[in-house]
Amino acid sequence: MQFLEFAEVCERLEGIAGRLEMIEQVAAVLPRLDDDELPVFVRFIMGRVFPDWSTKNLGVGPNLLYDAVAYVVGTKRDTVREAINATGDAGLAVERLLAKKEQTSFFMQELGLVDVYREFERMAAAGGQRSQREKLRVAQGLFGNARPLEGRYLARLMLEELRIGMGEGNVRDAVARAFAVDVRLVEHAHQAMNDLGQVALLARRDPDALSRVTIEPFRPVKMMLAQAGTIAAQLEDHGEVAVEHKYDGSRFQFHKVGGVSRIYSRKLEEVTGSLPDIARLLVEATNHDVILDGEAVAVRDGKPMPFQYVIRRFRRKHEVDAMMEQIELVPRVFDILYLDGESLMDRPLSERRKILDEVLTAHVAEQFRVTDVAGAEAIYNEALGLGHEGVMVKVLDSPYTPGVRGRLWVKVKPGVETLDLVVVGAEWGEGRRAGTFGSFLLAVQDQGRLLAVGKVATGINDETLAELYALFKDKVIARSGKEVTLEPDVVFEVGYSEIQASPNYGSGYALRFPRFVRVREDKSADEAESLDSLIERYLRQKNGQGSL
Ligand code: ATP
Repeated sequence: MQFLEFAEVCERLEGIAGRLEMIEQVAAVLPRLDDDELPVFVRFIMGRVFPDWSTKNLGVGPNLLYDAVAYVVGTKRDTVREAINATGDAGLAVERLLAKKEQTSFFMQELGLVDVYREFERMAAAGGQRSQREKLRVAQGLFGNARPLEGRYLARLMLEELRIGMGEGNVRDAVARAFAVDVRLVEHAHQAMNDLGQVALLARRDPDALSRVTIEPFRPVKMMLAQAGTIAAQLEDHGEVAVEHKYDGSRFQFHKVGGVSRIYSRKLEEVTGSLPDIARLLVEATNHDVILDGEAVAVRDGKPMPFQYVIRRFRRKHEVDAMMEQIELVPRVFDILYLDGESLMDRPLSERRKILDEVLTAHVAEQFRVTDVAGAEAIYNEALGLGHEGVMVKVLDSPYTPGVRGRLWVKVKPGVETLDLVVVGAEWGEGRRAGTFGSFLLAVQDQGRLLAVGKVATGINDETLAELYALFKDKVIARSGKEVTLEPDVVFEVGYSEIQASPNYGSGYALRFPRFVRVREDKSADEAESLDSLIERYLRQKNGQGSL
């Protein structure tokens, strides 16, 4: 497939509003692709370049993009920037700039879909001091051979924001339909492989094998997530539940085979080098080959320390030893996904838990079986007294469902609820805030689209304001008056007093009294609050349901 055909599919999809029609369009394309093209197409159409388990990263920011396009169309970086500011969309601006250039160039090569992927791989592989120059050269080559429409989607892919609304769920359904396999099998394989591209290939070649796909060490799977909920509702539905403390740390996944072990963060980045103490403690606690799921918590004098201490350790690449002396991390392991060559993901939690107790001699998070609200409340109060965030309530016969935020795990926390929202724009500040960004535009995600839900300006002190400016200044994609559009890869945790229905923002909702809490460095944009979950919170709030 030529990249142009891919671009044409994207353009068609952009014009379709209905989910089913989008799925049908994509399903019609998949069988026509060859084996090299299929996985690439499947990832690209979701706006992703590499498999989710992969630690590869393109590392292209807006500035590199401006420079590459400026070079190709023979203009200045500022002209590109202005064009992007005028449209507010890097893709459309690049398309228009390339359209002007097109009449004058005769030496373009056809870009194949797989060629583009190979070039992206080269960009990701470029390291060291020269990496920016190498990435720029590759980007120049790509835009130099791109027709205007190709330019639109090349730019968006490089910024990892395709904006066509083909999220993971839609693509999964399209794969199932294209190769006439049960969507549950596709989902099962996707959870274990963590790469819909490879799943699509398997669905075509050997659909029977989909059910046999299992999790593999050193290929991290997405973490199972929790919904906010109440203990009472879970007890009513299930009679008996497992209750655990909700530790305020950072999630990790630990993989070990023989003498080799690795640790992955919640974003599935490898963080083994930053957490030698966690690795050592877990290696000492088991002789088995395992994949474990847990929370790394910071402790001082036996008391848990806030999350900020933990995240500092996760980020640390240099002087890890010095940092280790200041911040001691300990693992609290609450799940096991793999043991000695066998996946445990489909076993019920109660069974996984029993196995965990048998194979790990220390660091297993405490778990309580509870049948009545009073018992659960006592554990909840104890958890808060110990300085934890609240409790997790888990369904005893539930499988491990990677990446799913369902009702099998429910989190119960006191006080104000917060939302994790993607920062998609900012506004220049005034007065004391002049020269930095004074407020930030926030969005929820909905199948790959980002929909605005409000702005946040309060709760940010001067020090944080400066840090946020440093964080965002190289992520500006477009400017218009006092507003800028940002590369959407930072997540803010935001407090609020109420969710309101509102026509002012794309999501159809707005936040009353939004308040900045912190940057969720451990979360990526596709893990931010979804529109569905926002609506659920809105309804829960309307019905006046409490938190216990
Ligand atoms: P929050 O913002 O409330 O921490 P989250 O959005 O980060 O939640 P959720 O999946 O909603 O993630 O909440 C579960 C998180 O709580 C897990 O990702 C994990 O990091 C943490 N956690 C702490 N203790 C436990 C536990 N015992 N079992 C599962 N997760 C736990």
